[in-house]
Order: sequence, then C-alpha cells, then structure tokens
Amino acid sequence: MSELNLILLGPPGAGKGTQAEQLRTEFELPHISTGDMLRQAVAEQTELGELASSYMDAGNLVPDDVIIGLLLQAIGRSDARDGFLLDGFPRTIPQAEALGVDLEKVGRKLTGVLLIEAPDEEIVRRISGRRVNPKSGQIYHVDFDPPKVEGIDDVDGSELVQREDDKPETVRNRLAVYHEQTAPLADYYEHLGLLHRFDGSPAPAEVYSRIRGTIATLKLEETI
Ligand code: ADP
Ligand code: ADP
Repeated sequence: MSELNLILLGPPGAGKGTQAEQLRTEFELPHISTGDMLRQAVAEQTELGELASSYMDAGNLVPDDVIIGLLLQAIGRSDARDGFLLDGFPRTIPQAEALGVDLEKVGRKLTGVLLIEAPDEEIVRRISGRRVNPKSGQIYHVDFDPPKVEGIDDVDGSELVQREDDKPETVRNRLAVYHEQTAPLADYYEHLGLLHRFDGSPAPAEVYSRIRGTIATLKLEETI
C-alpha cells in the first residue's frame, strides 16, 4: 500500500495552508481544506454557507455533524483514492473518531499527522498580516510574504482581502477554541503512534524541508 493519507494539524496561522500548497504539488495529493470548503459555501450562499457563517465569523467551530459529512464525502471522491492531505480537519476528538471509523470501514489508514506548532504571539503577527486571494485561496503576508504589487495577487491580478475572522477580536477566540478543543488531538494521535511535531517558527522553506524529510521516511516505511 503506497497511499499517503496525511493530516496537517496546528493552531490557526501556524502555516498549514502555506505548507499544503507545496506538499500537494510535490506529492500530488488533493488538498482538502474544510476552511476553504466552508468559505466557498459562504460565498455561494448555499444552505451550508448560511449555517456556517455565524460560527465562523465568531471564531467558533461549526458543529461536528455538519463538517463530518462534508469531509467524509471529500475523501471518498476518486481524486482522493491514492491519498489526501487534510488541512483544518479533524478539529475535535469526535471528528477524529469519525474519520478513523470511516477509513477503517474501507480498509484505509492514516499515514501520519503533521503538527505544526507556533507560539501565540507569532500566530497573532501572522494572522493579522495574512491576505488571501478569495478566488484561488493563494495566501500572502504583508511583511513575511508580500505580493509583488501591494494588495494584488501575483498570478491572476485579483484583489487580496483580509478574512473576516482574521480581525484581532476573533483571532483571540479562535486561539482559545484551538487550545480547548483541537490541541487534545496531539495526544490522541501521539497515542496512536501517528504524530510528527514540527517547529513552525522558521521560514516556510525551512519548515517545508523538515516536513518533506519526514514524509520521505514515511513513504519508505510504507514500502518495506
Ligand atoms: P485556520 O487555517 O486559520 O485555522 P480555517 O480556514 O481552517 O482556519 O477555518 C476557518 C473556520 O472554519 C474555523 O474558525 C471554523 O469556524 C470553521 N472550520 C473549518 N474547519 C472546521 C472543522 N473541521 N470543524 C469545525 N469548524 C471548522
Ligand atoms: P494556517 O493555514 O495554519 O492558518 P497560513 O498558511 O495561512 O496558516 O499562514 C498564516 C500567515 O502566516 C500567512 O499570511 C502566511 O503567509 C504566513 N506564514 C506562513 N508560514 C510562515 C512562516 N514559516 N514564517 C512567516 N510567516 C508565515
């Protein structure tokens, strides 16, 4: 079995989306971001979007039963048959359990959980400067990774925006929610022998090279 079934775990702003962009290109994995899926639903004003937006704007998690169905559907699609890269899911123990049960049912298993860690003050700096292309999802930072022309995407010329939930008042609640509901997943996956920790403080390329090294080892172990 050479499936690469990976989870990116970590606080908001740690760099999960940034790392995912490189990982999906190099390892040809579908990048399944529940945050991106929800933001798309909000933009399209679907029923799901209407339901999710009040939770998201307040920096709270959308209910487990809403997100679990959405995610399981995504990993069941054909492009995720040979592997996937989950970003932003699971965020609670019940979500992790639902994922485990679903994978076991179809004879699949997780390859590894990549935890990217960063201190709260660094996270606040990163999130307050984050700008995104609402169409492509491309991520920038006003100081750490600025576009060539201020406020404009390098690739398609779209105007970059600040996410509604990246405003300072909401960020504090998102961090509290992370520590309370999501951080326990590190222990959960550690017990399952799946956790790999990465210091998210260095520059993105340095973080990436360490993650890449771990994935190379995991791939090797799969083939033995
Ligand atoms: P970040 O990467 O900055 O942590 P995301 O884009 O992953 O943020 O998520 C944005 C928001 O979408 C969350 O604050 C939450 O409201 C909602 N969300 C995303 N994924 C989940 C999930 N797995 N469970 C519950 N809510 C989620
Ligand atoms: P997450 O998906 O975990 O919420 P992002 O990948 O969107 O995090 O990164 C949050 C912000 O921090 C973005 O503006 C991004 O450009 C910036 N960033 C990501 N990784 C680093 C890093 N290693 N050093 C400095 N800034 C970073």
